[in-house]
Amino acid sequence: MSFADLGLSDELLQAITAKGYDTPTPIQAQAIPSVLMMRDLIAIAQTGTGKTASFVLPMIDILAHGRRRAMMPRSLILEPTRELAAQVAENFEAYGKNHDLKMALLIGGVQMGDQVKALNEGVDVLIATPGRLMDLFERGKILLTGCDLLVIDEADRMLDMGFIPDIETICSKLPASRQTLLFSATMPPPIKKLADKFLSNPKSIEVARPASNNTNIAQHKVLVDSRKKREALRYLLQNDNVSTAMIFANRKTTVRELNKSLQRHGFQSGEIHGDMDQSARIAELDRFKDGKINILVCSDVAARGLDIKGVSHVFNFDTPWHPDDYVHRIGRTGRAGATGRAFTLVGKEDLEAIENVEKLTGGAIPLYKIEAEAAEERPARESRPRREERAPREERSEKPRRERAPKADKAEATDKAPRAAREERAPREDRAPRAEPRAESRPRRSEPSEPPSKPGEWNGPVPGFPGISAL
Ligand code: AMP
Repeated sequence: MSFADLGLSDELLQAITAKGYDTPTPIQAQAIPSVLMMRDLIAIAQTGTGKTASFVLPMIDILAHGRRRAMMPRSLILEPTRELAAQVAENFEAYGKNHDLKMALLIGGVQMGDQVKALNEGVDVLIATPGRLMDLFERGKILLTGCDLLVIDEADRMLDMGFIPDIETICSKLPASRQTLLFSATMPPPIKKLADKFLSNPKSIEVARPASNNTNIAQHKVLVDSRKKREALRYLLQNDNVSTAMIFANRKTTVRELNKSLQRHGFQSGEIHGDMDQSARIAELDRFKDGKINILVCSDVAARGLDIKGVSHVFNFDTPWHPDDYVHRIGRTGRAGATGRAFTLVGKEDLEAIENVEKLTGGAIPLYKIEAEAAEERPARESRPRREERAPREERSEKPRRERAPKADKAEATDKAPRAAREERAPREDRAPRAEPRAESRPRRSEPSEPPSKPGEWNGPVPGFPGISAL
């Protein structure tokens, strides 16, 4: 099967070839013909499957004909985070280069005046996070009655972030006859309910989880005394041919402290988490993408869905509380046919979580023992892991320090954040499983340093996202 078999236009086929793709991924092969036939769609697929192109490509051909009108976007894509919105915008830019379409990106942290101006000029594709879109809608700056195509991307993450009421409101403002495409990695009951309510006779597609089925990723768990996790991590960073690594931690405070500690030990590391403002996050990501640092310590929400090429290693400093996050985390490596390695450090406090991960991924993750002897033979920049952190046998003889409870960081949160601040709130960060979604405590101020030259056009760069056009 080739892209030419899917019913896409020649202009689009040229753009796909220019991007270097010749074979559609399974989700693209299944979704594109149905979307072109204007059918609603439910796709159970996660990032890494090529799902973005499965809606971006047919949308470009659908929107190729038609007229833009002021304040009335012709299509709308909802994304849970600014980074994902920017990534979708990048896709539109690459695939839409042979089309005369205007796109606008409505995300928090970007000046509203420019966004309003672009909306007034008319846009074909509006890519938005729900919070910012609702803000503009409530201010009467946008009309959704001309929006005939809606994409709800990462619906389960929207649920986690408390965006479902906003999405319901948004859906009710769009024409009832619109086409709706819903993408979600999982289908929990509230998402099923949303789909039943707002989609009509949808085609359903489910594609395999890329990460858990991805044999390109060698997965390991390392049993370690909780107090020795940093040492174990440093040992692995120095001894496992790490070229680029993403390190995940469950709490923002851990992300910050771990990054500081790695830097103190001479590693070229940076951090991204939900407490950083937009420009700082983008700057840090760019440093990582440009190779100025080769280690990025991340929280789940900040790193969700980011498509960064060539990550050789993923480390789980903590086992994620939600097993789905494990799949998302390790899926940062082993992308696009490359091989990758994923290590999960398992302290006593992680034992229940790792069991849940193994249930989800369908088998025990192979145990990896750190060879302290090997470490001692190498010149190291810091103290090496000692024998007692290698195996559970020694661990049992020690009383591990109690991990700080997730609620330590919860004090930073409140549900009373204004709407603007609800963009990117991080429900899974810094809290134990099953807690209620919450907003972060303070509004995020994150104006980019310079406004793009021509709002709303394909060729206006977004600061920090080279090559993305936006407002
Ligand atoms: P996504 O699931 O949309 O996040 O895409 C994951 C990665 O797959 C991105 O780097 C895409 O550029 C890439 N990709 C998308 N479609 C294809 C394709 N047909 N062949 C190879 N790679 C693709």
